[in-house]
Amino acid sequence: MIVLKTKRELTLMRDACRVSAGALKVAGEAVKPGVTTLEIDRIAYEFIIAHGAEPAFLNYGGFPATACISINDEVIHGIPSKERVIKEGDLVSIDLGAKLHGYVGDNAATFAAGRISPEAQRLSDTTRKSLYEGIRAAVPGGRIGDIGAAIERYCTERGFSVVRDYTGHGVGAELHEDPSVPNFGTPGRGVRLLPGMTIAIEPMINQGVEEVKRLSDGWTVKTRDGKLSAHFEHTVAITADGPKILTAL
Ligand code: MG
Repeated sequence: MIVLKTKRELTLMRDACRVSAGALKVAGEAVKPGVTTLEIDRIAYEFIIAHGAEPAFLNYGGFPATACISINDEVIHGIPSKERVIKEGDLVSIDLGAKLHGYVGDNAATFAAGRISPEAQRLSDTTRKSLYEGIRAAVPGGRIGDIGAAIERYCTERGFSVVRDYTGHGVGAELHEDPSVPNFGTPGRGVRLLPGMTIAIEPMINQGVEEVKRLSDGWTVKTRDGKLSAHFEHTVAITADGPKILTAL
């Protein structure tokens, strides 16, 4: 069931999203060679708590941390650890959410640790830009397939592949709501986009093959061929005036 939000609810949700965006910013600024992923998780946790919100991922489905931190060939759902030290040249994807006033904001971004390879930079830039291509397509009267098609076209034209096993999603009082928002699709197909819908658009884009595998820790998802992956996400409201990025700072 798709839950449409009123203007008042969108205002409350914007507050949760602003905390999520702030936490992602400080976590991203902490990405440096020599820092552990657990230290980054702690920074995100402290920020969310200091702003009166709750980490939306912590204990969600049993996830043990505030942020998912996924490095290089890890696509999503990496578990922060004191053993995991970030190295020069790593591509570090951070995904986190905050809950405030009963609403969740969800966002993600990929950060560079020191100097990364030109190809890693191109993957990251393409993934980030594809998110905005998808957002631009999130207009009332459009369809879910318009969003995925825009992302897919942008990335495949540049030689990258789109992860199909995981998708974006509706978000609101719950972290995951209907509809699902694939990063691929056919224009004009799928659920009709209506004002008041709030969705997390989150391209997960691979350097090599689109196939992924889940590790035995039950969470971490990696590329099947060991090549790089990048991930960017915003929580977006569809309004009569067009898409509004709720997780903008
Ligand atoms: Mg999400």
